[in-house]
Amino acid sequence: MIKLYNTFTRKIEEFKPLKPGLVGMYTCGPTVYGPGHLGHARSYTNFDLLKRLFLYNGLKVKHVLNITDIHDDMIKKARELEITVQELADRYIPLFKKDLADLNILPADVYPRVTEYIPEIIKMIKVLVDKSFAYIAKDGSVYFDIAKFKNYGKLSGIKLEQAKTGTRVATDKYEKEQTSDFALWKAWKKGEPYWLSPWGKGRPGWHIECSVMANKYLGKTIDLHAGAMDLKFPHHENEIAQSEAANGVKFANYWFHAGLLEVEGQKMSKSLGNYIEIKEIKKRGFNPLALRYLFLTAHYRSKMNFTWKGLEGAQVALQRLRSAISQFQEASRRSLSQEKLTQIDKYKEKFLEAINNDLKIPEGLVVVWEVVKSNIPSHDKYELLLDFDQVLGLHLAAQKKVKIKIPSKITSLIDEREQFRRGNQWKKADEVRKQIEKLGWK
Ligand SMILES: [Zn+2]
Repeated sequence: MIKLYNTFTRKIEEFKPLKPGLVGMYTCGPTVYGPGHLGHARSYTNFDLLKRLFLYNGLKVKHVLNITDIHDDMIKKARELEITVQELADRYIPLFKKDLADLNILPADVYPRVTEYIPEIIKMIKVLVDKSFAYIAKDGSVYFDIAKFKNYGKLSGIKLEQAKTGTRVATDKYEKEQTSDFALWKAWKKGEPYWLSPWGKGRPGWHIECSVMANKYLGKTIDLHAGAMDLKFPHHENEIAQSEAANGVKFANYWFHAGLLEVEGQKMSKSLGNYIEIKEIKKRGFNPLALRYLFLTAHYRSKMNFTWKGLEGAQVALQRLRSAISQFQEASRRSLSQEKLTQIDKYKEKFLEAINNDLKIPEGLVVVWEVVKSNIPSHDKYELLLDFDQVLGLHLAAQKKVKIKIPSKITSLIDEREQFRRGNQWKKADEVRKQIEKLGWK
């Protein structure tokens, strides 16, 4: 049984997909106007761990991750670079996918790009207008009327009485204090890309895309919606409002929010100069999987503090784990006593219990090291650790054999034995072989 914390109910609940055996999972993807930073790396790693948890439990996953290729931030950035918004997106989408691959994050099944779904977006906005959940402003923009949607604010815990109903916010991003009607469709402004709609030239607001794509690929009610903690308001709140108002049914059964990342004890921001891009990890000579290992050491919901020292520690731990595994790989299979078999089962159970209990990966990692240090046969350690790696995703199977340093005493004995053998002195050669074995070498 998988148990997960559901942000919507604020409780740990048993996870049950609508269709037994199949999970429909939607993740808010990136706005592609710059390289990914460590905050993204942590969020997407946590979504990946969740997906791997489902797979490890024998469930199939249909995973949709949208790509925002039209947004206030994109228009601004494209202007600065004197390129089109599409060119900007084309530049950063491959980099985003490369970052994911470096972190051994399993690819999604679909990566829908917003600008490829404009007719579907217009259609959903039309439904909202027809049902009077949305209204057309004088300039031809369309706004969602939050006063009409009774459950507005449930996810983030805002009381609608406090909300300034009737006021409007035109920007894609805004703070809780600004709670007001938000734009579904933005009327065209000079110099901006546009599409034709029943309300004139314009472009979609940010929030509508996720409602449309989740609906298109996963249906009206989806099993699980994942996103970073800072998207709870306004983005996810608005997704719920749009989807439930348009479809008349519950939008997502489970809400999974990944905790944020600080750098050296401070919120990451360009102005503080502590904004670290994912590619910086490799530039500084670290393996991106060491970063993944570091993320595994904190629970997904907790705030995490990144330090370069912490990353160094993670890299050392990962190397130690890898060299242990490559040695276990060498060992040949032995028959097992009942006692050892029970021990193996216990480790497996303990690991599964930890991860199935709200994805407690740090506890799973403790079991990993217990296995490494245990007295079960090496070959079985190897198999067990590779089994766990299906969730951890540390590429443990791809390990090349680690070169073992042979002490000079042993190499000289090997040479000696070789000389006896060449001289057909078999008995003496055999004696040396026994000496080598006594010292623990073969
Ligand atoms: Zn979204």
